[in-house]
Amino acid sequence: MTATPLTLQDRPGTPIDPSVDHEIQAIVSGETNTETCNTDLAAGPWNFDTRPGYGPGASMGDVIPAGSPRQGELPLEYREASDADLHARILAAKQTLGDRVMVLGHFYQREEVIEHADYVGDSFQLAGAAKEHPEAEAIVFCGVHFMAETADLLSTPKQAVILPNLAAGCSMADMANIDQVEECWEDLEEVYGPMDQQDADGLVPVVPVTYMNSSAAIKGFVGRHGGIVCTSSNARTVLEWAFARGRRVLFFPDQHLGRNTAKAMGVPLEQMPMWNPNRALGGNDESTLEDARVILWHGFCSVHRRFTVAQIDKARSDFPGVRVIVHPECPMDVVDAADEAGSTDYIRKAIAAATEPTVFAVGTEINLVQRLAAEYPQHTIFCLDPVVCPCSTMYRIHPGYLAWVLEGLVSGNVINQITVPADVADPARVALERMLAAKPIADGRNKS
Ligand code: SF4
Repeated sequence: MTATPLTLQDRPGTPIDPSVDHEIQAIVSGETNTETCNTDLAAGPWNFDTRPGYGPGASMGDVIPAGSPRQGELPLEYREASDADLHARILAAKQTLGDRVMVLGHFYQREEVIEHADYVGDSFQLAGAAKEHPEAEAIVFCGVHFMAETADLLSTPKQAVILPNLAAGCSMADMANIDQVEECWEDLEEVYGPMDQQDADGLVPVVPVTYMNSSAAIKGFVGRHGGIVCTSSNARTVLEWAFARGRRVLFFPDQHLGRNTAKAMGVPLEQMPMWNPNRALGGNDESTLEDARVILWHGFCSVHRRFTVAQIDKARSDFPGVRVIVHPECPMDVVDAADEAGSTDYIRKAIAAATEPTVFAVGTEINLVQRLAAEYPQHTIFCLDPVVCPCSTMYRIHPGYLAWVLEGLVSGNVINQITVPADVADPARVALERMLAAKPIADGRNKS
């Protein structure tokens, strides 16, 4: 699995404007009557970044944990700069820095930032790109906090990983904090007995599995307790790895990826209780936990939770023959109603592989869908959700922040470096290495 090198010169002609930002501006100015989830998105994100909360966008309603990183105020010169000025300053800083810097852009990132990315991919592909370029002294990660942590885990000690805006967290990753997970483990130990004790079949009571979209602290926890990390591309392979070692799986933070994957493997829904960290025994009784095969953490992605079966029904009625592809972070009924479910990489490859003009209704983040629509004008590609509502945490990386950190590097200042402490990093790497050894499924398909 490799990230896609992308340069401005390589980009195909784009008759459709892929910028979600431009679309939101058009909505605010009345040029189009499409809806956006919050018109405040048209203003600079720095109006929200210094306050608690995720700001306007799909995850704005989620509760931000008290300990989440906060971003200080962006210097005025960047807040007041025009789009064209920021674009020119980013280009100039990158040219000065040359190979010393590598800019990574996540698939869900806004177009104004993606156009400056040296590599575009999902979180794991981008961490791999960082690892493959040890000559880059600085890696500017235009994604969210857990992704920058993963890049720090996989890059060399000499490389500095930079997150342009520290307020770019991930509401799903923040739904499982390390204290809650440690408490859950202690509670489960009271039910199942010692967690390292194998039964007659050689299985331990529980193997913890965390989605890549989790903090380094959670990945470290998993590494310390015989567990493993998964991505949306390899979740099935990883669950098979875990079931070969344990009677049950504790899966966090995304209940939907866990449920959709385990269901496709034949695990009955009644053997997938939910763990709510705010309730005694996660809201379960002991017999439910005894019978469990997969214990699902009460987490979700606010972007993918927006997709509904009604949207799929409407797409099928408006476009008979439409091909519906959704991300496995979507709720189970949505995945069941879709034609296919798979990771962002799977969705991209599926569209790229279509040889005949096709109508695709896609259930994933709007920035990726708009970009795909622009890159493949021979197809009709639209987002299942009719409302323009990007991932609000990813949206925090405005070009102003990118210009700020790059110009900081030009003048010798490393701003917003993300460093995972060694006591967390070592076991987290163990959990990631187990995942690599488990050989991820190549095409990311999650639906049987
Ligand atoms: S799309 Fe969802 S999981 Fe991805 S960064 Fe945004 S909130 Fe987190």
